[in-house]
Amino acid sequence: MIVENNPLLQEFNTLHNTAPFSQIKESHYESAFEKAIQLATQEIDSITQNKAAPSFSNTIEKLDNSGELLGRISSIFFNLNSAETNDEIQRIAREVSPVLSEFSNDITLNESLFKRVKSVYENRAALDLTEEQKTLLEKQYKRFSRNGANLTEIKKVRLREIDSELSKLSLSFGENVLAATNAYEMHLKDDSRLSGLPDSAKEAAAEASKAKHKKGYLFTLDHPSYVPFMTYVDDRLLREELSKAFGAKAYRDEYDNQENVIKITQLRFERAQLLGYKTHAHFVLEERMAKTPEKVNEFSQEILDKAKPAAQKDFNDLQEFAQNFHENPVASLQKWDAAYYSEKLKQRLFSLDDELLRPYFKLENVINGVFEIASRLYGLSFEETSTIEKYHPDVLTYVVKHEDNTLNSIFYADFFPRKGKRNGAWMTSFKNQWHDEDGHNIRPHVSNVCNFTKPTATKPSLLTFNEVTTLFHEFGHALHGMLADTKYRSLSGTSVSWDFVELPSQVLENWCYEKEALEIFAKHYQTNEVIPLEYIEKIKAAANFQEGLQTLRQLSFGMMDINWHGIDPMEIKDVKAHEKKTFDHTDLYPDVETSCMSTAFAHIFQGGYSAGYYSYKWAEVLDADAFELFQENGIFDRTTAKKFKDNVLARGGTEDPLVLYTRFRGSEPKIDALLKRAGLVA
Ligand SMILES: [Zn+2]
Repeated sequence: MIVENNPLLQEFNTLHNTAPFSQIKESHYESAFEKAIQLATQEIDSITQNKAAPSFSNTIEKLDNSGELLGRISSIFFNLNSAETNDEIQRIAREVSPVLSEFSNDITLNESLFKRVKSVYENRAALDLTEEQKTLLEKQYKRFSRNGANLTEIKKVRLREIDSELSKLSLSFGENVLAATNAYEMHLKDDSRLSGLPDSAKEAAAEASKAKHKKGYLFTLDHPSYVPFMTYVDDRLLREELSKAFGAKAYRDEYDNQENVIKITQLRFERAQLLGYKTHAHFVLEERMAKTPEKVNEFSQEILDKAKPAAQKDFNDLQEFAQNFHENPVASLQKWDAAYYSEKLKQRLFSLDDELLRPYFKLENVINGVFEIASRLYGLSFEETSTIEKYHPDVLTYVVKHEDNTLNSIFYADFFPRKGKRNGAWMTSFKNQWHDEDGHNIRPHVSNVCNFTKPTATKPSLLTFNEVTTLFHEFGHALHGMLADTKYRSLSGTSVSWDFVELPSQVLENWCYEKEALEIFAKHYQTNEVIPLEYIEKIKAAANFQEGLQTLRQLSFGMMDINWHGIDPMEIKDVKAHEKKTFDHTDLYPDVETSCMSTAFAHIFQGGYSAGYYSYKWAEVLDADAFELFQENGIFDRTTAKKFKDNVLARGGTEDPLVLYTRFRGSEPKIDALLKRAGLVA
């Protein structure tokens, strides 16, 4: 059914074609999706039914341009489902999501479409294509081939079997983790053993207990309950109990995931082999900057070698501190002592209190600061406007312009928590940059959504330093979107590989630690006094606290991930013994026999992070190495910024990220800058 006056299906007659939120009703979505899918299907059909021989423009370009309306509706709908949802939107999401993935699968399984794409791909050497066009062609071809389009019928059937089995197994993995988490609770009748725990955590535990009609205090393995407990509770035996329960989740219990882990890794391996790859990690990494598990291992080992002495020193320092801790000395550290004594040591070394810093980080000052930095680096200007529609009154809207006063983008900023917004902070777009078929450079509509400290009746919004770095991080992603300048929509802005996408966001965080940058915006909201230099020094030192141990921990997860997915797993029988192969090299705390990490590692066995966990460290290496060039040339140096913009921010996913990066930096990324910044080497 087509709703005639459905605003989602019409030209947006708004300023800069921004989404007309005031006209969009929830009742418009379902029919709009239906109509847009019909239209996209027709667009695909017109490609496959074309009598002319397949060419880059009549197949590859047409395919990239198809589904524009569907993309526009999806962006609006799913952005609102994250930032301003309600029961009705959630219901529609449940209805629409399977339909959308079916539509996407239909394209991937469309044999006549693949035949045309393949024909162009096989002729590519004879075509006069730009680098961007080559990338687009390669990506489109791989979208089919990586889903089995080149396989024989028998193998195709097996691939579908594996896929459906894998989706059941990862579901079961996740259900087990959840059930194991929920099965445990620690109930204490009174607070006699809770000394050390902050009141807020105590109140939450009392409320949790009350909700179950019990007196006293209830603690669980959920992070908001678990983390403060392990950090603050003085009673070591209780910490040990909770820590052991946490470590034993879905391991040798009623919800045991050992078999799931083995089956998942073996099926992933079989799938990869079916498609002609050596292992699952080879399959995944082909489309990443790192390219191979060998490269990831080499990179991890290199950092590990450098970080281990620093980690050992962190560990020894902590041990010595714990041995001499006047209230609760312990002879030798165990896993359940880590957070507790680290917090005490951190307090002693830095005594950096959030409340001390907040007055220097008034939200409005920080936003204007990040705008000023973007202006000095990239010549952008930001003008707040009331003429662009918003989906909630809290949202701020800006018209962003280039130095020559032409339109760069529209920027939405949605900073405060409210019912209907999910947790966390993220960047998203209502519209991507691209060149339309008439050659117009369509400018993007970019959005940052966060959950920052709200203003009160007497105080403006004063951010913690952590919130400040989050704002810079998300704004770094936003710049990747704003400064995009590519021809094709699917290669624009943040449409880059996973181990490259955090470079623009993380690199911008570096400005938060620089005196020259802080002086722009870190001013006391009452006195206008610039943040004292000693605070800046303390912030920097605190950021590197126990960096050796942190690095080892991060590396260990990434290495274990590759150790599951970068090998032939068919002979693995013992999950714990297998993960120990990694942890024996990376863990300084004594092993706990009843604990297993893999059986609860949802990131890689349930979610989409398999063979990808290394990306966190990888991105840090990139951002430190990139920022080093800014430090050498000046953090506001326009030439360096222009290089970064022209080769990285503007280029999106149009070329191999290593090529783009090397063009900016003049050499491949090196780990040295990260080691130096983290204080791991002198
Ligand atoms: Zn990010």
